[in-house]
Amino acid sequence: MSTKKIALVTGGSRGLGKDMAINLAKRGLNVVITYNSNAKAALETVELIEKEGGNGIAIQLDARNIKSFVGFKNSLTEELQSKFNTSSIHYLINNAGFGHEGSVANTTEEAFDDLMNVHFKGVYFLTQTLLDTLADGGGIINISSGLARFSLPGYSAYASMKGAIEVYTRYLAKELGARKIKANTVAPGAINTDFNKDRFEQAPQVVDIIASLTALGRVGESEDIGSIVAFLCTEDAAWINGQRIEASGGMFV
Ligand code: NDP
Repeated sequence: MSTKKIALVTGGSRGLGKDMAINLAKRGLNVVITYNSNAKAALETVELIEKEGGNGIAIQLDARNIKSFVGFKNSLTEELQSKFNTSSIHYLINNAGFGHEGSVANTTEEAFDDLMNVHFKGVYFLTQTLLDTLADGGGIINISSGLARFSLPGYSAYASMKGAIEVYTRYLAKELGARKIKANTVAPGAINTDFNKDRFEQAPQVVDIIASLTALGRVGESEDIGSIVAFLCTEDAAWINGQRIEASGGMFV
């Protein structure tokens, strides 16, 4: 059995999850990533994990499809057994997601349900499904957003789901403390990933506006987040529990 700890990053094929995976490997972990449709990007991330000295696995997961989670767990267990001779992971990072912009007046029930399934219900039930896959003494990191603390028009549904996982994270910390499993939220500010690509391309002035609202004077990059998540997956961060850590360069401070 490999002595390295194993982290599972949902949505590890691109953006923040990809940078988390690379940084986890740099810190000596093996990494399982999931992707939804972009298998090619997922394999590229696995190559980068291996370049950093880790072992990587990519598994498909549609976080919308709650009924698929038991099948996902079975695939995960098989892959863990065949590659690492174990059936456990040490860290679960619930990161997969997509953006949505719509005012309270314009958000449809369909868009709301989609956000709910991926950003809250999916996180809730994937974590539940993997409770006995997660080793005692491990950790859960849920990726929220600065928008759960400050409010910008157009994000009511998305930000409400992120608010919900922040509450959920505190309950996880409380209920799983007996197993010495920690649960924390990392809340990025606006980051330059595919998530914001259309918005930044269609309205480049938004980049300057965000920079002006940020104490450090720029929009975030994926590299601003991955190392923070990786740190939380080390013994150096073992006493951080039940917390919300915002990584926004100081937006709206
Ligand atoms: P990207 O669009 O760059 O990457 C999204 C990732 O999530 C991809 O790996 C994608 O897989 C996966 N994904 C998308 N939809 C699903 C789905 N239905 N089921 C499973 N996986 C899915 O986004 P970011 O990296 O920017 O965002 C990652 C997380 O960070 C999200 O939770 C987002 O809400 C949060 N966040 C992002 C911020 C930002 O400004 N970028 C700010 C604050 C929070 P595939 O490649 O297969 O499509």
